[in-house]
Amino acid sequence: MHDVAVLGGGVAGATAALRLAQHGLRPAWITGRAQPGFKPGEHLSAAALPLLKTLGSDAILRSQVHRHAHSTYSAWGSDALIERNAIVQLEGPPIVLDRIAFEAAIAEQAVIAGAQRMDGSVQDVTIKTDHWQLAHDTGAITARFVFDATGRKARVASRFATRFQADKMGCQYGLYTTDPATAPRPVTLIEAEERGWWYLSVLADHRVVVNFYTDSDLPGFDTADLDVHARGTRAISTYLADYGLSLSGQSGRATSNSAWIAPAIGAGWVAIGDASAAFDPLSSHGMTTALWSAITAADAFAARDKQKMQDYADSVAKGVQDFLTARRAVYAREGRWTDSAFWSRRIAPVAPDHAATQEG
Ligand SMILES: Cc1cc2nc3c(=O)[nH]c(=O)nc-3n(C[C@H](O)[C@H](O)[C@H](O)COP(=O)(O)OP(=O)(O)OC[C@H]3O[C@@H](n4cnc5c(N)ncnc54)[C@H](O)[C@@H]3O)c2cc1C
Repeated sequence: MHDVAVLGGGVAGATAALRLAQHGLRPAWITGRAQPGFKPGEHLSAAALPLLKTLGSDAILRSQVHRHAHSTYSAWGSDALIERNAIVQLEGPPIVLDRIAFEAAIAEQAVIAGAQRMDGSVQDVTIKTDHWQLAHDTGAITARFVFDATGRKARVASRFATRFQADKMGCQYGLYTTDPATAPRPVTLIEAEERGWWYLSVLADHRVVVNFYTDSDLPGFDTADLDVHARGTRAISTYLADYGLSLSGQSGRATSNSAWIAPAIGAGWVAIGDASAAFDPLSSHGMTTALWSAITAADAFAARDKQKMQDYADSVAKGVQDFLTARRAVYAREGRWTDSAFWSRRIAPVAPDHAATQEG
């Protein structure tokens, strides 16, 4: 019987496994199925640095595979591209991660610290009187407490608490490449349009990712047509043309709505990372929240401190309300398409509590 099991192999799961092991525990860490290749989401906010220091993991960022993000340009509220240079950001520049390498580095530290890593998925969870039975790909695993770090699916938490969503945002993405001799200028571009918004970022390996965000229930386009629509933008299309970028063939879709669980704790479980609260990627704080929630919940669990665990759940709930307020303010800065469904939904003057619907 394990004292504690961590489900999920992303930033939240790896961090919880590491932190619990640093407290002298030997968590069973079930990482889920490996997803080879690309994982969207590469901007790590500078706010994550103190959290990585707490873990003793800040050296990970010194690897040459990551880079600092110095310039972000956005056409939001008008066609003008406004630059936000990292030099004026007090907390410092965000880091553009090699996401796969970053997660692998935390995972390696977790195993060295003593986490018992098991690859493969949990198919089902059953509560017994004083423990959980987890049906893993390789057989049954038992644990007294479960950290749910299974991402937006919140495999455990969504069975015992209500999952809410503020919108139905989805992302279509494509990876672009150019002649290896041409290093594209390392920038991030954000461009609003009537149906949603575009995002372009130069990855640390010089590939370029282009994302389009809109609500999944609104008329959109097939991901196969992403390139055609990207070429119809103003700023993004100019950048693609200037650097001779072409779609590499790698493209896909990801869920990117704002969704959360309430409450984030229950009898014998805690939800962390996206399983507790997943925010619109415009915030660029998903990984930072994953780090914070994993450390805070692991510290509370290791201290066997119920009040600390309750404080954690209260902080998640407050963070959700703060995020919803900030989200409305940011979207309200774009006033050109107030009649379009995508924009009007986000700026409607409703109390945050009423903006949420139960996730189907
Ligand atoms: C398009 C897009 C762009 C984004 N951009 C950014 C960005 O620039 N900056 C930023 O900070 N954040 C960004 N985010 C958000 C960020 O990616 C997430 O907040 C972050 O991945 C959350 O980490 P997590 O560990 O909670 O979940 P995940 O990374 O989703 O990991 C969940 C893990 O659970 C595992 N799992 C699932 N089911 C099971 C099961 N049954 N048993 C065992 N394991 C299971 C999966 O295999 C996976 O390993 C973006 C998100 C999207 C969708």
